[in-house]
Amino acid sequence: MIKPFVVFNQDQNNFSITYYVNDQKKQDYLNSLWKTFNIYDPALAQNIQILCRPTNPNMEVTVEHYLPPGAPAGKYRVETFVPSKHSNSRKAIFTITQNVKDAGGSKNEDYAMVVVDLSELHDVWYSLGEYYFDPAGGREIGRVRQYDLSLEDPPMESSYGPVRWIPLFGQGKYHRYDAPVGSKQEREAPFPTGKFIYGRYPIWVGNWFDANPFLSWYIYGYHTGADLNLPGSSAADKGKEIYAIGDGKVTYAGRAGTWGNIIVIAHPEAKVTLPNGTTRKQAVYSRYGHVDNHILVKTGQEVQRGQLLGFIGLAANAVSGWHLHFDVCYTDLLAKRPAHWPNLDAIRAIRYSNPERDSRSHSSAQLNIMKEVISNYVDPLKFIRDNH
Ligand SMILES: [Zn+2]
Repeated sequence: MIKPFVVFNQDQNNFSITYYVNDQKKQDYLNSLWKTFNIYDPALAQNIQILCRPTNPNMEVTVEHYLPPGAPAGKYRVETFVPSKHSNSRKAIFTITQNVKDAGGSKNEDYAMVVVDLSELHDVWYSLGEYYFDPAGGREIGRVRQYDLSLEDPPMESSYGPVRWIPLFGQGKYHRYDAPVGSKQEREAPFPTGKFIYGRYPIWVGNWFDANPFLSWYIYGYHTGADLNLPGSSAADKGKEIYAIGDGKVTYAGRAGTWGNIIVIAHPEAKVTLPNGTTRKQAVYSRYGHVDNHILVKTGQEVQRGQLLGFIGLAANAVSGWHLHFDVCYTDLLAKRPAHWPNLDAIRAIRYSNPERDSRSHSSAQLNIMKEVISNYVDPLKFIRDNH
């Protein structure tokens, strides 16, 4: 496995800022416009420094991140980190240098230009595209240059890096996980999209959004996973394909009470963040709920990442609308009890015996349900983001 190459904004060897002004006072002024702050990135499990500045119509500043020395030739996906604050320009301009030609002693760069609307992106690694780089062709190969050129009036703000290059060659040597829905292209794109719909529901891939994010409280208790939907009518996702998130073995496929049909897959290894914040590599189980009757896999079958498992159906007696319930369990609970749902008795008591919402028994029942969820399930969005 070849690890991604990351260039942080403190990396003197592979990061540079250029001011295109001769006047020192002007340069000092341009320099004073930077905002710097740190953000914790769960994908890298560390704090990263973010640089932001107002957009400018004059192209007086450029920022460059260079692909570090030692990177092998091959295809890479180039990504920049976009924070949720101080970054709302709709026209952030990047160039990615793919080739350098020496034409009669002067260098010509062959680059791709990408314009990004930063205003919709929130704390996410955003793809600037996939490119073939052969670093033997020159130091500039793979370089990401960002300009402050923008005609936005009044000025907005743009974020600048860090930048990472993810090798797309030599794959399959490690375990990778994708979303269970969406087209192949959408599932293989950076995850999540960093966008929200209806103001609050995270978009996973394409237009798929989670209507009940992990640990949201609703009539069936604290949610153990995600309810993946397409925008529009409740039937917008009816019959849509469900895919295995990673390589593994089916431990259950079939009928499961009020769920309708479910599929559970055991995956041999993935990065898991435990409730106490520690991370480790271990086996996990993924569960796909409300699958229609045309199930394409059997209990005991080996499956591969991206394999078609079945199609979105309804819960038994159609107690809920069309959607895929998807969750990830880090204990062997779903191997033993594939249809598990936390503390059903407590939920029924809360729903039917009508205790006061602020009573002590109500809150202690809620607390027990919460404990049962977090001691078995992880946030599936975070899980896929950390293993994508
Ligand atoms: Zn659900």
